[in-house]
Amino acid sequence: MKTILPGQTIGIIGGGQLGRMMALAAKEAGFKIAVLDPVMDSPCGQVADIRIVAPYNDEVALEELGEVSDVVTYEFENIDYEGLKRLSQDTYIPQGAELVRITQNRIHEKAEITASGAPVAPYIVASTYQELVDHIDKVGFPCVVKTAVGGYDGKGQVKVDSADALPAAESLFTHSACIAEAFVPFVKEISVIVQRSANGETYCLPIAENIHKNHILHESIVPARVSDSIRIKAEQAARLIADHLQLVGTLAVEMFVLEDGEILINELAPRPHNSGHYSIEGCNISQFHQHIRAICGWPLREPKLLRPTIMVNVLGEHVTSLKKAVTNYPDWSVHLYGKAEAKEKRKMGHITILTDSIETTLEEIEQTRIWS
Ligand code: AMP
Repeated sequence: MKTILPGQTIGIIGGGQLGRMMALAAKEAGFKIAVLDPVMDSPCGQVADIRIVAPYNDEVALEELGEVSDVVTYEFENIDYEGLKRLSQDTYIPQGAELVRITQNRIHEKAEITASGAPVAPYIVASTYQELVDHIDKVGFPCVVKTAVGGYDGKGQVKVDSADALPAAESLFTHSACIAEAFVPFVKEISVIVQRSANGETYCLPIAENIHKNHILHESIVPARVSDSIRIKAEQAARLIADHLQLVGTLAVEMFVLEDGEILINELAPRPHNSGHYSIEGCNISQFHQHIRAICGWPLREPKLLRPTIMVNVLGEHVTSLKKAVTNYPDWSVHLYGKAEAKEKRKMGHITILTDSIETTLEEIEQTRIWS
């Protein structure tokens, strides 16, 4: 394990908001930031010291990033695995490339979660639509068919209620092989962000309860309103997966909570996660600071929740009314990511509110009508 120190350069593949918040955390300690992104003025580019403007998978640009960086990390998983693997031969990438290979394909991801011993919903792999038809009885209905690669925020997936409706999933196969999993009648969605350094030191952030609107994260509520036994199970599952994958850095583990108190793992993200943004104000250490500590070989800090916290996402359609309202709310910490164009459904920022009453604050958020 190498130790990377202030004054040295952290290279980030991807210039979105996750890269920006990693960069801001790292710059507090005096690290320099290099970023690779196709856009000069990307959210991370705006706060970086060195900008390499090229597609994420451009081999020459990746090499250039490696040359100027003492350690390289990434802010999203849909990067070229082969390119990352090649880069890791000459560049220090403590997270490795394997985790990217696994998490960019639901088939690999499900297999690894299962191998770790953490629970997943019953599922099958289908390379063709005919295979789906032939084997769907192992999963039954309702089920959710998901493309193995490229899906996010509910894209690339179809819920199928009956055998008659199965053809609705056929077009997914033009994109890639698929998995079909049982539809989970969950009562809550939660996420555990687990962070681990190369020597195995591991911590979980306080668990977030996540509320989605149109498949996009709307609110995270922390602590998640679940029993201690669910919290313990969720943390144990996240640690099992982190150990199994020999994680270095950050892994977000999204889970379903069932009525009977059991949990099932939905999916993984090998990076800081939207549901962990609350930790910037809500905890004694943010997911971004901890990520930088983990990849730089610094000892990790045990995360503690300072007060109950709510994070609300600001999408393109919310920006104008948020800006009008924001000066009325001294308790809101506002984060806008510096994106020029406020497109509908695009994540433009978030707000964080520390509160002594989750219920009252949820009601206040509702009453602003910014999100309704
Ligand atoms: P994903 O892209 O797999 O995270 O799915 C996006 C959202 O779809 C999840 O956050 C759930 O709300 C819903 N979803 C995905 N898979 C299932 C499932 N097997 N059963 C019920 N809801 C699901």
